[in-house]
Amino acid sequence: MLHPKTTEITFKLNNGVQIPALGLGTASPRERAQETKQAVKAAIKAGYRHIDTAWFYRTEPIIGEALKELLENGDIKREDIFVTSKVWPSNWNHVSESLDQSLHDLGLEYVDLYLQHWPLCFQRIEDDKDGIHGIKGIPLEKESKALFEEGADWIKTYKQLEKIYLDPKDKRVRSIGVSNFPVEYLQRVLKDCEVKPALNQVEIHPQLPQLELKKFCAEQNILLTAYSPMGSSGAPVIKLPLVKELSEKYKVTVNDIIISYHIRKGTVVIPRSLNPVRIAGCIEFAPLTEEEINKLDDIGKKDPVRYIDEFFAPSIPGFTGTK
Ligand code: NDP
Repeated sequence: MLHPKTTEITFKLNNGVQIPALGLGTASPRERAQETKQAVKAAIKAGYRHIDTAWFYRTEPIIGEALKELLENGDIKREDIFVTSKVWPSNWNHVSESLDQSLHDLGLEYVDLYLQHWPLCFQRIEDDKDGIHGIKGIPLEKESKALFEEGADWIKTYKQLEKIYLDPKDKRVRSIGVSNFPVEYLQRVLKDCEVKPALNQVEIHPQLPQLELKKFCAEQNILLTAYSPMGSSGAPVIKLPLVKELSEKYKVTVNDIIISYHIRKGTVVIPRSLNPVRIAGCIEFAPLTEEEINKLDDIGKKDPVRYIDEFFAPSIPGFTGTK
């Protein structure tokens, strides 16, 4: 074999824990959430050993069902897979409780990585009809205006993650990190907290290469994970002419080009798919040259595009732009 499959490549977090470079994203559309079970099973069968999820996605119970069957069947052992979950801003001051809910739904005793999903604090409002574990996902003041907890400080959430991680009797997380943190937010964590985040999960792809953030994280030994690597629903990123050209040159799929672009840059990547054929068919590694990677980065340097444009994100200084 000339090159490894992308499912076989791993990186090391700053606490020594190994993370598979390719993971399956599971922010499935709500009406298709049940299909996540087959997707997880297809991914494990294809060689994936990393699943990315979150309290907010509502897919944890479905992933839990898939993992239970795979573990009971002897297809995998718990220690062979890497599971990431995240605490949502509605639970900004209930980290331990939210972690317990995620673990219960996933049917696991620990997660390999636990992330602060956003540096934001939402009001915690009960909602028995449509809430997640009875809590509103995004509390709204009016349409497209989130209700933030006045006077709350997002750093408090990270400190709760840190407390769990540092307690030698608490085995619920193997590593901790953040998501959607611009440089200035990471700087504050480094200044005010004891544990350096192992990883920052953000949107990255050729149209949004996040080069400044990449440089800062590399200097600090914080790994990056690229979310929405295909540009999310509709996968606009794979339609870029250069991506198509490279897929023809390397005789791999356009998805493989995007996945390999991230892995070649030392970035973890978590594409989502509910299509078992696509999941199994997009694990070839393309040894892109430095020049090709730079050309892909140039697309976003010239004309950046952010696809996950959450309406509440502009309240995070440093997040609003397409830098
Ligand atoms: P992706 O960028 O991975 O795109 C997934 C979509 O692209 C799916 O609908 C998939 O369809 C489609 N697709 C992929 N390849 C093709 C193809 N060749 N032809 C046609 N359609 C294609 O989307 P996400 O936004 O879900 O990002 C991935 C993961 O990142 C999430 O699932 C989640 O785990 C994480 N994430 C984290 C966030 C955070 O705030 N931390 C925010 C957003 C995402 P199909 O199912 O048919 O393959």
